[in-house]
Amino acid sequence: MLSKLLPYRIFDKFDDISPEYLTSRGIKFLFSDVDNTLAPYEVPEPDDRIRAWLDSLKDAGIRVILVSNNHGDRIELFNRTLGLNAYADCKKPGKKRLGEIMKSVGATASDSAFLGDQIFTDVLSARNLGIKIALLVPPIKDKLTLFFRFKRLMEKPIIRKYYKIHGGEKK
Ligand SMILES: [Mg+2]
Repeated sequence: MLSKLLPYRIFDKFDDISPEYLTSRGIKFLFSDVDNTLAPYEVPEPDDRIRAWLDSLKDAGIRVILVSNNHGDRIELFNRTLGLNAYADCKKPGKKRLGEIMKSVGATASDSAFLGDQIFTDVLSARNLGIKIALLVPPIKDKLTLFFRFKRLMEKPIIRKYYKIHGGEKK
C-alpha cells in the first residue's frame, strides 16, 4: 500500500518540472491538478509564471490536461485564456472518469505523467490509472480545515519514506 502511494518524484514547485525531464521519460501527456498545485484556491486565473511554464511544455510537444475535483465554474474560468483540455469534478482518485478522459485525449499510462499536491488524491489517481510518473509538489497554500490537516498528517509517513529512499531533505 505504502509503495503505491509513493510519488515518483517530489519537486519544490510546478515549474521546476522541465520539458526535458518529461520528454526524456517518454512523456507526451501531463495530467495536472489545479488547486494548490498551479495556483491557490482563491486565485481565479493563471499568472505569467504558469503561462510561461505551460508554453515551454507545449513547445516541447507535451499536452497538458487539467484534471480537478473542483467545480466547473472554477476550472472554466482558470482555463478561459489557456484553452487546454480541462476537466472539473473528476472525482479523483477514482479511475472511472479519469480513465475516460485519458482515452478521449489518446493518452496511455506509459506516455503520461500526473502532477498534483495531494498523495491520497493525485498520486493515488496516477497509480489507479497505471501511471508510474506521479509527480508531487507541496501545496502552495493549504486549507486549514481539520479535514485537510488530517490528510496532511496521513501523508507524512509517505513523504518521510520518499526522502529515506531518495536521500536528502526534511519532514
Ligand atoms: Mg490540489
